[in-house]
Amino acid sequence: MKVDVAIINGTIVTMDSNYTIVPKGFVLIRDKKIYSIGPMEEFPTNDYSEIIDVDNHLIMPGFINTHTHLPMVLLRGLGENLALHDWLTLIWKYEAKLTTEDFYLGTIIAGLESIRSGVTCVHDMYLDEFPIGKACEDLGLRAVLSYGMIDLFADNQIEKRESELNITKQLLKKWPAENDLITITIGPHAPFTNSPEILLESTKLARKYNVPIHIHIAETKKEKKDFEAKHGKTSVQYLEDLGFFEGVNVIAAHCVWVTDNDLAIFKKRNVKVAHNPASNMKIGSGIAPIPKMLEAGIPVGLGTDGAASNDNLSMLNDLRLVPYIQKGMHLDPTLISSKEVVSMATIDGARVLGMEDRIGSLEPNKLADMIVFDLNDVNITPSSNPYSLIVYSLKEYNLKHVLINGKFVYKDKKFIDPKKVKRDISSFKKLVDNLNKRVKRNG
Ligand SMILES: [Zn+2]
Repeated sequence: MKVDVAIINGTIVTMDSNYTIVPKGFVLIRDKKIYSIGPMEEFPTNDYSEIIDVDNHLIMPGFINTHTHLPMVLLRGLGENLALHDWLTLIWKYEAKLTTEDFYLGTIIAGLESIRSGVTCVHDMYLDEFPIGKACEDLGLRAVLSYGMIDLFADNQIEKRESELNITKQLLKKWPAENDLITITIGPHAPFTNSPEILLESTKLARKYNVPIHIHIAETKKEKKDFEAKHGKTSVQYLEDLGFFEGVNVIAAHCVWVTDNDLAIFKKRNVKVAHNPASNMKIGSGIAPIPKMLEAGIPVGLGTDGAASNDNLSMLNDLRLVPYIQKGMHLDPTLISSKEVVSMATIDGARVLGMEDRIGSLEPNKLADMIVFDLNDVNITPSSNPYSLIVYSLKEYNLKHVLINGKFVYKDKKFIDPKKVKRDISSFKKLVDNLNKRVKRNG
């Protein structure tokens, strides 16, 4: 038996279906996958290429960020104190000036920030996913990418619709579903930015390529009011009547302004939710009814959203906001357990992306996407309940190792990405300065 890496002596939070915790155990990695897991008493003596001793460390599946817009790190801090629709108008002005280099380097910066907060898989929606995918490959970061299609507001809507769908088709060809690092979802941006035609074409593509759809739904009160005024129904009911949810896997981001009837539609159509607590708070969009979703058995994953509405990509920040917000708002400390939150950030996130057979928990034969936190620090002592520790106490600086596809991308608190990507902050600042100049020139 040839095993690449043995990680030993750690507390393993597996997130398997029994929520098994191994107090002092080992994880063996062979090729890209987990070969076996067990208590140290059963550690097999062997000829290992590398043994990493992680005594008093916590080993867990990497976090899955189910909704983000990576290159928006370039717009971090813009649009302070603006509501979503005014915020979007400002952001779109900047996005119109982004270059291929911006998308690539923006994603490098965002990817590094993600990895350093324990993220091993991102679900992105943005404008030019080709350089974004290239950057994720160079970082060794698992990514599920969707081109954010918008066909309304164009002078020639039919032409725009065709070109939007074509870009998505090109992405599906470049990164087919079998790819072991990058895959594609179909991304109509939102019901209020797309025609019924492109929404239905999206479902056809999703069925043809057997991939999920990624869309923003019911993010704001304005969307709900506008749909009720124009169509006499919520955006969820509008999509249901259109046939949008039929026979496809839909990943719906935000879902703040959903009614009980909307949630019944989600349940019936197996719609999955990407919950973005920090972004929903910062843009003042509102509080998503997460306890109701969980009670209904709707899969809920966690997302940071873009760094321009958060303003960071730390999943740990979003993890703890989930219970803080719900417990505080409902005056009920029994709502949302730490275990449920860790599930959202790991195995349920994998379920949301339809990848639960490959990632999201530490089990033999799954891809070895895992993170290791060093517990030798003041902020995490004592550490009796691992779930509570993960949600409420851990900080990014406690993160020691990150592995994706069985390879270290962050080891001993240092990045070791496969391509040695450019990451100096001065060239990143120059990029942002140039973007600002281009936007100002055009008023
Ligand atoms: Zn978003």
